[in-house]
Amino acid sequence: MIRRRSPPIQPLLMYLIFRCAGCGRHLYAEDGAATRTCPCGKRIRLDKVRVIARAEDEREAGDRVRALQMEGRKMTGFSPAG
Ligand SMILES: [Zn+2]
Repeated sequence: MIRRRSPPIQPLLMYLIFRCAGCGRHLYAEDGAATRTCPCGKRIRLDKVRVIARAEDEREAGDRVRALQMEGRKMTGFSPAG
């Protein structure tokens, strides 16, 4: 995959980090998206969700979600279902 140089003015796309109300898993979604479907099957409306954190790019969002998952696992023994 070839990555072009960033244009001088880039729209700032944020990622929202939140928890699924169904299974408690941490997820992220692009800011501006209407819904996000959790791997557990629950569809989460992003206008109703409580945002835990924000990230500036998808990689950062993924890192934060992973960190949150690990914290949660320490406390509850939760392990992701794949
Ligand atoms: Zn879920």
